[in-house]
Amino acid sequence: MGSGNAIRGSRVGAGPMGEAERGEAAPRVRVSFWCANLHETRPSFASDAAIPELWDCPRCGLPAGQDRANPPAPPRNEPYKTHLAYVKERRSDKDGAAILAEALDRLRASRSPWQ
Ligand SMILES: [Zn+2]
Repeated sequence: MGSGNAIRGSRVGAGPMGEAERGEAAPRVRVSFWCANLHETRPSFASDAAIPELWDCPRCGLPAGQDRANPPAPPRNEPYKTHLAYVKERRSDKDGAAILAEALDRLRASRSPWQ
């Protein structure tokens, strides 16, 4: 083995996990999932089973994914956008400024001490 230091630049993230317990009875694989709160869950699957992309976090119920750096967003923060919502959004882009200005005016008027 010539050049020695092969572990350069590899991200040693993920922390200590005590992986790889051996000698389990049936061949199973353990997969880590992280939810948006970074709870780690490590369910084990039969080695021939399909591993799901998402897993429900047993602690908070959020969906958990296998990418720790990029856990699935909590469904509540991700409202389903309909076509109508998109249309409204686009329209309010222009109207929004006017509405805001008007609201500010009203706010200023109701607050101004000299009135
Ligand atoms: Zn969780």
